[in-house]
Amino acid sequence: MRKADFRSDTKTRPNAAMRKAMAEAEVGDDVAGEDPSVNRLEAMAAERLGKEAAVYVTSGTQGNLVALLAHCQRGDEVILGDKSHIVKGEGGGPMVLGGIVISTLPIDKRGMLDPDQVDSAIHADGTNYPRTTLVALENTHNAAGGVPLTPEDMKSVADVAHGYGLPVHVDGARLFNASVALETPAAELVKDVESVTFCLSKGLGAPVGSVLCGSNEFIDEARRWRRMLGSGMRQAGIIAAAGIVALDTMVDRLAEDHSNARRLSTGLAEIPGIEIDPDALPTNLVFFTMKYSNHDEIARRIIESGVLLGARGGGYCRMTTHADVTGDDVEYALDVISSTIRDYGKR
Ligand SMILES: *Cc1c(COP(=O)(O)O)cnc(C)c1O
Repeated sequence: MRKADFRSDTKTRPNAAMRKAMAEAEVGDDVAGEDPSVNRLEAMAAERLGKEAAVYVTSGTQGNLVALLAHCQRGDEVILGDKSHIVKGEGGGPMVLGGIVISTLPIDKRGMLDPDQVDSAIHADGTNYPRTTLVALENTHNAAGGVPLTPEDMKSVADVAHGYGLPVHVDGARLFNASVALETPAAELVKDVESVTFCLSKGLGAPVGSVLCGSNEFIDEARRWRRMLGSGMRQAGIIAAAGIVALDTMVDRLAEDHSNARRLSTGLAEIPGIEIDPDALPTNLVFFTMKYSNHDEIARRIIESGVLLGARGGGYCRMTTHADVTGDDVEYALDVISSTIRDYGKR
């Protein structure tokens, strides 16, 4: 049976060039700073993002956690969006491991915070209130449908934070999707923020890892926390080598994922009973709702036919385009979804 996996861009597997680079990687003890491949990946990432330094971390979750631990003391507060991945998708790490207070503000349709609300929420000198020490944004915003935030968006929140002397962290798991969609260098997107993490293991197709970037001083502190969290990975050049290939060869091709997502979205919109916001499609995430009483059965049948999608309850679904799904896979998915709905859909 034909199979196409649209559940997540984390499903991408390392390609032949990555596997070759991994087999041939020069390595050393990264805890001592002696792994040439890790050092090269970190230097490339820092340069790409226009920051002084970078540290290779095991995952996007660890990148955000290490960043928050490096920015905040116990009892400090970070302000961020209520649907952000740091709040909803990372097991509460900053609270559990850092004693960091998470305060959320509502995000708008694009995943943006309202700068005025950020201004009112900041308590820079906490006695009764926890002391605010950080503001965090997400770009592209996963739960908001992968909308890329512009440099102006980022600056509008950063200006408020900086007015109180506070830094801004960006969860840029899909920052390169934003960069490609906006045809804006990633460094330009994050020029007004102090730290940013991005995933190598999503759309960029590497098997493992994320990179956290910031100032020299901040990255030294982040390294200390990474070590404490048990991620001194020794000969990590084996996996970093795939990250180098990802940064070298997998960024520009994200445009292909975005055009596949557009085609998918247009096709879905033509299927009766599928509700999809035609404006909400700038990158590689496609959210839609199946307006059928038996949506769970429909989703199950679609998945059984080899089109793997994320069914999130209530008929709400997510599909993701990435390097391991082709334009043909998109046509196949549209065929399977429309015929399943035609044959089994009950309003
Ligand atoms: C996937 C994701 C992460 C975490 O990445 P992992 O590598 O899965 O830990 C962080 N932020 C956002 C927005 C994500 O989509």
